[in-house]
Amino acid sequence: MKILSFILFLFGPALVFGVALPDDRSATRVEDKRTWYSDAKNRLQQENAKKENTNRAKNIIPATSFELFSNVGLIKTYSTDKQVTDSAASATAILCGVKTKQGMLGVDQSAPENPCDKKRFEAAKVESILTWAQKAGMRTGLVTTTRITHATPAAAYAKVPKRGWESDTRIPEKYRSCVKDIARQLVEDAPGKDLNVIFGGGLCQFVSCRSDTQNLISNWKQRANAEKKKSMFVMDKMQMDRLTNETKVLGLFDSNHMSFDLERDKTVAGQPSIAEMTAKAISLLQNGDKGFFLMVEGGRIDHAHHLNLAKLALADAISFEEAVQTALNMTSSNDTLIVVTADHSHTMTINGYPDRGNDILGLNKKTHNDAYATETLTYANGPGFLKHRKNGTIEEGEYPWNDPSAMTDRNDSRYSHFAPIYKAHESHGGEDVAIFANGPFSHLFNGVYEQNYIAHAISCAGQIVENDQCWRLTVLGERTTRLIVNLKMKILRFILFLFGPALVLGVALPDDRSATRVEDKRTWYSDAKIRLQQENAKKENTNRAKNIIVFIGDGFGISTITASRIYKGQLAGNKGEESYHSFELFSNVGLIKTYSTDKQVTDSAASATAILCGVKTKQGMLGVDQSAPENPCYKTRFEAAKVESILTWAQKAGMRTGLVTTTRITHATPAATYAKVPDRGWESDTRIPKKYRSCVKDIARQLVEDAPGKDLNVIFGGGLCQFDECRSDKQNLISNWKQRANAVTDKSMFVMDKMQMDRLTNETKVLGLFDSNHMSFDLERDKTVAGQPSIAEMTAKAISLLQNGDKGFFLMVEGGRIDHAHHLNLAKLALADAISFEEAVQTALNMTSSNDTLIVVTADHSHTMTINGYPDRGNDILGLNKKTHKDSYATETLTYANGPGFLKHRKNGTIEEGEYPWNDPSAMTDRNDNSYSHFAPINTAYESHGGEDVAIFANGPFSHLFNGVYEQSYIAHAISCAGQIGPSADLCQPSSPSSSHFGFKSFSFASLLIFYLVLATLF
Ligand SMILES: [Zn+2]
Ligand SMILES: [Zn+2]
Repeated sequence: MKILSFILFLFGPALVFGVALPDDRSATRVEDKRTWYSDAKNRLQQENAKKENTNRAKNIIPATSFELFSNVGLIKTYSTDKQVTDSAASATAILCGVKTKQGMLGVDQSAPENPCDKKRFEAAKVESILTWAQKAGMRTGLVTTTRITHATPAAAYAKVPKRGWESDTRIPEKYRSCVKDIARQLVEDAPGKDLNVIFGGGLCQFVSCRSDTQNLISNWKQRANAEKKKSMFVMDKMQMDRLTNETKVLGLFDSNHMSFDLERDKTVAGQPSIAEMTAKAISLLQNGDKGFFLMVEGGRIDHAHHLNLAKLALADAISFEEAVQTALNMTSSNDTLIVVTADHSHTMTINGYPDRGNDILGLNKKTHNDAYATETLTYANGPGFLKHRKNGTIEEGEYPWNDPSAMTDRNDSRYSHFAPIYKAHESHGGEDVAIFANGPFSHLFNGVYEQNYIAHAISCAGQIVENDQCWRLTVLGERTTRLIVNLKMKILRFILFLFGPALVLGVALPDDRSATRVEDKRTWYSDAKIRLQQENAKKENTNRAKNIIVFIGDGFGISTITASRIYKGQLAGNKGEESYHSFELFSNVGLIKTYSTDKQVTDSAASATAILCGVKTKQGMLGVDQSAPENPCYKTRFEAAKVESILTWAQKAGMRTGLVTTTRITHATPAATYAKVPDRGWESDTRIPKKYRSCVKDIARQLVEDAPGKDLNVIFGGGLCQFDECRSDKQNLISNWKQRANAVTDKSMFVMDKMQMDRLTNETKVLGLFDSNHMSFDLERDKTVAGQPSIAEMTAKAISLLQNGDKGFFLMVEGGRIDHAHHLNLAKLALADAISFEEAVQTALNMTSSNDTLIVVTADHSHTMTINGYPDRGNDILGLNKKTHKDSYATETLTYANGPGFLKHRKNGTIEEGEYPWNDPSAMTDRNDNSYSHFAPINTAYESHGGEDVAIFANGPFSHLFNGVYEQSYIAHAISCAGQIGPSADLCQPSSPSSSHFGFKSFSFASLLIFYLVLATLF
């Protein structure tokens, strides 16, 4: 009940949590089209009801309740010297607003390793949010499950060049006179000494792990008493529970890190849970009258992953989520900003195609092709190697892995999951992490950001730094209302300027991101402040989306986004990590849950049906819901299962429509827009079992003969063979298409190469098939005029043809071969196709206005590629990780959980033999070839998809409908809403006739506000 009243108070509608965490998501829920439609419509109402909250954040708690927070973003985690960060550099970014080098805390990258170099060391120090909050009179607290002196909490209060200096013993003797250890800094120096609440582990660093014979606990008590504060030191759950109105508390519940939650002593004499520590911390901090800042770290998720202990990691993740839920229950989103994020990812992948509901810690189902069992959760590297290696050694064995299905300890919490590469500690993953925000100014977190931006956005929301942009916005907002009439003419001119993509993208893609850029604290501060101005200037665009362009990168998961972003930057001569894809600067970002109704990890048919028809369905099905029979001759059931796509909705509204893909035009993703079949394989009649051929048309015929396919204005892709030579019915569907086109228009054209496509100008119906099969990978494409157009060229031509209509258009563009390259472990081809996909998005941005064009970029699913090891900043993303003295073999940064790359990397190139089973990739002379397949430890003919969430990016009208965590089927409904077409058209329309001009007025008002802000900035 507490939750409901809290939510009612905040968002108005009780819908937000009530509907999105429904009781009916039970085993008995029938996931047919009615369910997916009503789920999506409920969510749309919630999204439209979200309002920007520009109250000052009185309390700030950076902490799966959080998946329903009002805003979601993505965070780039690299440090100034590594592609894959450690926790010290990332915590300094999050808490001090400055990226720095691996291992450093509270100093920027200019810090000397020798702290006796006083002048340079002092100059490198940076303040943390803790200092800003204390200066503003806020109470402050730290909660962690690690040692309180460990990297993440220490970044809030310590300034050291080495995270290891937790006690004096750990500092080299020659430096001890120049710098205090982390524990001493906590007790003796601001801001640590002024903390009101400190809960965690690590007692040893304060007493017995010291060589200076100091007892820092006694020191802490003396200092607290001297300040005449009500203080208390506690060591177990019972003592903590007794705390009521103390103003200074120190709780250290373990000599070292606190226990993993599954192994925790839950008695009163034992350790409190992270949720219990959070609850107590909030109740103590709430006693102040100027608000509070609390940092809560779920620190042992990381430790479990490092040991490949997936069960412990997931259990600690759940207890972390309980802490967030506790904070939500105890606070109001009117005055409390809650931010949930990660410092970095790990190399764990969700792989194979496990069934819906399959034990997430369990095994994938063996198919008849599999000679051995595999797990759903595996790591790219780690000590699990030894467990899974036959004989448990690094050097020997035939097929090197033990059969996990034969392991009797699979349910134990210390059962280590599969890892193909031996390391004592599994490395982090390098892809972006998510950020979730709720409460005041949470709208500052719905884009793709550098990690150091977080501290600045929090400072902005809490208005805890003078002359901050958020403070300015609040004050100026009131004055602006009075000036609205006088400035009316200027407003209109300003709208064009502001909402054109040039400004948003122009500012955020600065020229100074070059190799010579000095990444010190000034740079990170000014980058973040520029970005904050942009974020505050973002306003909801509630124009109708006249034009809609949906970009689907097939297999374009978050690790592929991160890796291709780095690759793009490196091709331009930069380090790469700091660059952005054009769509990463879209006004809104969300996360998409991709599972199908029958699989944890989806295929492209089920996911394309979700994205384009608004209904999740079974693997392999197109344009029908899960109730479709496999036999289409069951007419009644088959007809009842059919669902309409956005294409139909758009055509009914009189919009022009187009499809662009680099695959066969009859392949799963494009076919989901126009075909209705129970089996995606039925691309030509030959592929349909004979007994079914009289009951259903093949996909190519549906495209040519049936609505909405036959009414498409633009069709560009590959797959010509399905239309003539790959058929057994002797039909020539190209001739059929031409005849039909001639019957409705005299301006139609069939084209087969780039030159012919380039000549198109004002045709109203065009069919371009540029390859017999899939079009070429971009790196292998014939780029002459007699060859194939690029995806950007096809997109440009499609838009120019579709723009000739007067009722707007719908265009779907698929970068379809990113997926195919990944399936073959061909990372270079995949990243190159990802970049050409991104160029197509940039082309669409340049040719349209965000005033009337909604552009959505997403992926249908991810892949098992991980960015692993700790490669240096600017290291070739397709290259090798640096060998450390411990490594006896080289490793790649990009590896897969499975795939045919196995054979390439297996000694002897076989599945069954060899000692240490992998070849040394540094000795392979074809490493730069397009056909070089990257490492994979498990042999499968096709590398499988990954099962984690994918990102979605949106720009233009109603793009604010895409800044949460959504089911994939929601996408079609949000587009229907934005374009006011199809089943959810009414949800984005003005509510009454008299307010039909309101959309424009509020739009002007928003522009005025920003206009005035810019004026104020100038003067
Ligand atoms: Zn770690
Ligand atoms: Zn695929």
